[in-house]
Amino acid sequence: MFYLTEQFFSIQGEGKYAGVPSYFLRTGGCNLSCPGFGAEYEVNGEVRLGCDTYFAVDGHFSSSWEKISSSDVLITQLKHEFENIGYLPHIVITGGEPLMYAKDEVFYAVVKSMLEHDVKITFETNGTIEIDFNRYPAYKACTFALSLKLANSGEPVQKRLHHQALKNVHSHAKEAFLKFTIDTALVETTALDEINEIIEILPDVEVYCMPVGESRDSIWKNDRAVFEFCMKHNFHYSDRLHIRVFDTTQGV
Ligand code: SF4
Repeated sequence: MFYLTEQFFSIQGEGKYAGVPSYFLRTGGCNLSCPGFGAEYEVNGEVRLGCDTYFAVDGHFSSSWEKISSSDVLITQLKHEFENIGYLPHIVITGGEPLMYAKDEVFYAVVKSMLEHDVKITFETNGTIEIDFNRYPAYKACTFALSLKLANSGEPVQKRLHHQALKNVHSHAKEAFLKFTIDTALVETTALDEINEIIEILPDVEVYCMPVGESRDSIWKNDRAVFEFCMKHNFHYSDRLHIRVFDTTQGV
């Protein structure tokens, strides 16, 4: 059994596959909360801080999440969606942290079935959960967008950096790349050192950097600094197309 907070057809807005039509499955729950990303929301009068997808992270919203207890039901639903779309889009499984469900029977059955139907799957993950690729071999055929968190996430390094989990993905998965969300302040301070430390764990992995922001306004505050940072250090710049176009992070 796992939770989905939303599912929708859109275009991948970030990272290596930005611009590719993709069907998104957003799972509920995360092992981090990333208060440093500064998205403010209110729960019973209390102001909380989180990331741009706090609605898929904070358990307060779990009553609106959909409980998926049958893989067959979701697989049938996905096939129906793809018939309506008229072709097989990529599937992006994001969150929250989707790999919290890596060992879940229903979750794994959905992943396996989609791969058997020749669908390309990308996990958007914070890279802190170790996967048993021998016990769950279907994950070897997936792409891992390792969206690792840096100091600006507000999470302690011990919680946001899991060396063995990263090495495991690097040596077993078909494809993995690094994706960092950074802001002007981080560009001017520790971004380069932090990224270089991670590259030492994952040599030869492509690096994408994108601006922090849950809205057009906040992206505009950071995009130029990140753009110039990428030019200077030979990283790939990634925009956040869905936020640019729709000015929101939900349902797009
Ligand atoms: S790891 Fe990702 S989904 Fe989880 S709280 Fe941090 S930014 Fe949000």
